[in-house]
Amino acid sequence: MFDDTLTDPLKIKIEILKLRLFLKRRIDSQTGCWCWTGITDRYGRGQIKVGGVVVQVHRLAISLWRGIVLQRTQLAVPTCKNRLCFHPEHMQIQPKGRQSGATEVKLTLGDAKRG
Ligand SMILES: [Zn+2]
Repeated sequence: MFDDTLTDPLKIKIEILKLRLFLKRRIDSQTGCWCWTGITDRYGRGQIKVGGVVVQVHRLAISLWRGIVLQRTQLAVPTCKNRLCFHPEHMQIQPKGRQSGATEVKLTLGDAKRG
């Protein structure tokens, strides 16, 4: 049988990526977590190379299964507290905290014309 849902190159890529993640997955029977068994970064989060770019597995999983492309300003926080987990339903999307970035910049221009 010819499956015409798999003629779209993007859909094929998505299915291949899912399979690549499944190959490195160990399901925790207690929590249902999808534990990554492949390479991890220094924070203990799973990572994988896609098209020459290293990406975090839990963020990729959100795109693949939930169809959401995370912005740089968004964090994916595992509600199960398991760093190795990449189960897309265990991820909560949160905005990055304000402490990192723009609010740190202090304006000093006001002093320029003094005296
Ligand atoms: Zn989990």
